[in-house]
Amino acid sequence: MQKTDLKFWETLSLEQMSRAQWESLCDSCGRCCLHKLEDEDTGDIYFTDVVCHYLNEQTCQCPHYDNRQEFVPDCLTIYPDWGKKFNWLPSTCAYRLLHEGKPLFDWHPLISKDLQSVHLAGISVRGRTFSDDKIKEEEIELHMIDWVE
Ligand code: SF4
Ligand code: SF4
Repeated sequence: MQKTDLKFWETLSLEQMSRAQWESLCDSCGRCCLHKLEDEDTGDIYFTDVVCHYLNEQTCQCPHYDNRQEFVPDCLTIYPDWGKKFNWLPSTCAYRLLHEGKPLFDWHPLISKDLQSVHLAGISVRGRTFSDDKIKEEEIELHMIDWVE
């Protein structure tokens, strides 16, 4: 087997990955663009089906990814040394999985070689969200969901 055939995510740590390898870990599920609620006492995170209004509903990708903080100042940037903050990501997220020493799922595009597999597996947020520009802040608790975790 040539070195280029190696599954880099199984041989490199998050810190060792190139920018291109790091970016390819994102499966475009869109789950990290869902609004979350945090229990102040326990720190537990609860996902809602309210999503950032910039997210493309079909591709589940951000149209402003490279300069997204200009549009949403508190939009997350994931770093390899994030530590406990990986809990802010859904348990299916490749960054969190690798941080926790777990394998990627078969539907991950790096394994399936198909960008649609994340949608076909029912992992992406496609078709089941409400845009945050249509939801009042006081209504968000009514939108808590259990299909992310
Ligand atoms: S949750 Fe993870 S895999 Fe899904 S879009 Fe966000 S960064 Fe990418
Ligand atoms: S700005 Fe882009 S990456 Fe950030 S939450 Fe909105 S859609 Fe997601």
